[in-house]
Amino acid sequence: MEKTVAFEKNARNIFFHILTRCNLRCRHCYINPEQHGRKTLPSGTITSWLKTLVDKTQASNLIFIGGEPTLHPDLPLLIRAARDMGYASITVDTNGFFFNRILDKVTPEEVDYFSVGLDGSCKDVNDRIRGHGSYDKCVAGIQEALGKGFNVSLIYTVSRLNMGDLKNMPHFLKSMGIHRFFVQVIGIRGKSAQHKEQKLQLTKREWSTVVARVADRAAKLGIHVTYPKVFLDRAQPFECAGLVAQNYFVFPNGRVYRCPLCEDFPLHACVFEKNRLKARPPINEMDLFQLTIPEGCVMNKLIQPGNLEFDKQGRPRYKIACCLLKEEIKGKS
Ligand code: SF4
Ligand code: SF4
Repeated sequence: MEKTVAFEKNARNIFFHILTRCNLRCRHCYINPEQHGRKTLPSGTITSWLKTLVDKTQASNLIFIGGEPTLHPDLPLLIRAARDMGYASITVDTNGFFFNRILDKVTPEEVDYFSVGLDGSCKDVNDRIRGHGSYDKCVAGIQEALGKGFNVSLIYTVSRLNMGDLKNMPHFLKSMGIHRFFVQVIGIRGKSAQHKEQKLQLTKREWSTVVARVADRAAKLGIHVTYPKVFLDRAQPFECAGLVAQNYFVFPNGRVYRCPLCEDFPLHACVFEKNRLKARPPINEMDLFQLTIPEGCVMNKLIQPGNLEFDKQGRPRYKIACCLLKEEIKGKS
């Protein structure tokens, strides 16, 4: 049985983009160099910011992200430094290329998860989205990581380009020996925002049938699945994580957002200036979080309203949930 996971109110999640560079050019890449810069942050700056962001009075979870974070030559040192600072968990979000021999330079005790992005169960589907050769390289990387005893989870970003293939993922995961699966909804930001006409997002009906069914099948194979809720019935309560949870999305140019949907705009709540974290004056994303609208998430209405539907009276047929609200099904084997 799936369970909606409320935002964790006693934990901090730090999504730290340590660089924006990447070897791949995925069609849905959310990185926007105009907004996020092109810098690879020096390790001294990263450790200084990590110290500012950790909170030892509660669990602080750190996710190293990019670009491709394994392109940062100091990632092993940064992982150890973060452990020493008291981060409760450390995840590396990677495209599976595992650069700089990272798998030989850190241990499974130091990294809780390598979370690998793959958008198809086969070359044809994945490589159309993530680029020629990426499937083979990623699968080989996952096998190597598992062989060395690391925990590996898989992130699949669902869009119209790979919706039909999602049903093949439970078997793929089982055969690879992966026990943790994250389904992600495509956001109309970064590169996807430049091609809005493609209508990449799934409808409410598609989401609730296709994704929920696949999640259930994967759980029956013993896989722990997490996927965004996305749609809420009119009567269901709506909550904005920006107001009640502690998520920080940090970019190499110093911007710190509280909501990933805001990342294409200079709406960040805070900024690192001379290694000090400062709140920004209004108007920023925190002001938008306060607005109550019948469509649910304000940022969704502003930047990707194509997933909304209205009745003849002009009332929304449903609400869009916060993109950080998840359903979770634990494996049943
Ligand atoms: S792997 Fe990630 S950062 Fe690299 S192009 Fe793909 S989506 Fe963008
Ligand atoms: S996605 Fe919407 S509801 Fe969630 S934090 Fe952002 S603005 Fe708030």
